[in-house]
Amino acid sequence: MREQDLHGKKISVLGAERSGVAAAVMLQRHGAVVFVSDAAPADALGESIAVLAGSRVAYEAGGHSERVFDADLIVASPGVPSHAPVMKEARRRGLRVVAEIEAASWLCPAPIIAVTGSNGKTTTVTLLERMLADAGKDHVLAGNIGTAFSAVVDDVTPDTAVVLEVSSFQLDTIEAFRPSIAIVLNITQNHLNRYESSMEKYADAKARIIMNQTENDTVIWNVDDEWSVQKLAAASARQLHVSLRGRVNEGAYVDEGILITRLNGTSIPIISVDEIGIRGDHNVYNAMAAALAARLLGIEPASIRGTLRSFKGVEHRQEYVREVNGITYINNSKATTVEAVAAALKSYTEPIVLMLGGMDKGNDYTTIVDLVKQHVRAIVATGASAETIEKNFSGTVPVRRVDTTGAAVPNRVSMEHAVAVAASLAQPGDIVLLAPACTSFDWFKDYEERGRVFKSIVNAL
Ligand code: ADP
Repeated sequence: MREQDLHGKKISVLGAERSGVAAAVMLQRHGAVVFVSDAAPADALGESIAVLAGSRVAYEAGGHSERVFDADLIVASPGVPSHAPVMKEARRRGLRVVAEIEAASWLCPAPIIAVTGSNGKTTTVTLLERMLADAGKDHVLAGNIGTAFSAVVDDVTPDTAVVLEVSSFQLDTIEAFRPSIAIVLNITQNHLNRYESSMEKYADAKARIIMNQTENDTVIWNVDDEWSVQKLAAASARQLHVSLRGRVNEGAYVDEGILITRLNGTSIPIISVDEIGIRGDHNVYNAMAAALAARLLGIEPASIRGTLRSFKGVEHRQEYVREVNGITYINNSKATTVEAVAAALKSYTEPIVLMLGGMDKGNDYTTIVDLVKQHVRAIVATGASAETIEKNFSGTVPVRRVDTTGAAVPNRVSMEHAVAVAASLAQPGDIVLLAPACTSFDWFKDYEERGRVFKSIVNAL
């Protein structure tokens, strides 16, 4: 759809959180007749209601009425998954349903750099943003991270580099969304419960990021990742590969400890891997992907090197907290998948006391048993999934359960107990690593609250 086609169109926006509200305001500004609907009651929507009222956008809260379906188009915000009943009903009625990023992309005059993957999105977009900022290039960072695409798109000029963090839920409902650079970091088990437990369906959703690309666009992807090979090897866009297993023809790889980008047959050494400010092989993949995108955007290798050296990562992602009695505490509260835990374990040579647990999303823990054997001294199994974790690992390493549940959220008391148990199991020189493999909703509002509570407890030890 083109911008002028929005004029006078009746559009229902589903979801009144940050992105939904931004989409509604943007669409109204461009002449659409907008109606916002959210299943949550008005008092749970906080500021959103005030913004909608202030912008004179019509809305309802506490349920979806018939009015939702009296529309030419439905725009779904990222919080509303495509299997939600209201989405199913809209499709049953033959209504056109698109993602918020799709609608915003219609109004975007600049090429888009879209980053997806099961793990590493936030780290990679933040790193790429830092590279653009350090090089003095006009840019915006939006999508799943911080600001909604709809909230910034009207400020974008044709020279702005638009970096978007994109989830598979949004990709479910794109139509024409076409990034000029797509980055697919990896495709691993995640959110399977939302895709009828089908890895195939989840991988297909991720691969939709390339579906509208042509040979004038680029896809950067990890050839060491099995599902990526299956879903991306036939991409029609220019392919840039990243690998830690060997050289690639076009893309980035590591040779004798040096990260090298290779474009149009020319290899350029960027940085020694030891100098990269973020730790672990997984972060070398993230660094390679970001460096390639930066090179495509015209950033000089020396500038990329400077950013890779100085960038120390994002809060709650293998974040150093403090050393107490020779024990180092690391907050990786964002590690809500088994793969993220695997990546974290591989990043350290020190023995680890691993704080695992929370609300389990159907994890397969067998994939990390060997890594746990190699790296972990003991496990502190916390929260609602403590018993499952104990069952999976008790034959491998000592497991101590801290499964107090049902207390008030945030459950600082239980976390204090868990940290004390972890500290008692650790020896000088060890790492206590909060890397739960689970969501936080048993004890906390979100992973950020979990990480912050963990940090404040550690800082008070
Ligand atoms: P996302 O935005 O995709 O959730 P983050 O950058 O927030 O990714 O990182 C989430 C978790 O995954 C963190 O625990 C981080 O250490 C880990 N991680 C980061 N990059 C990767 C990667 N390329 N592969 C596996 N795990 C990763």
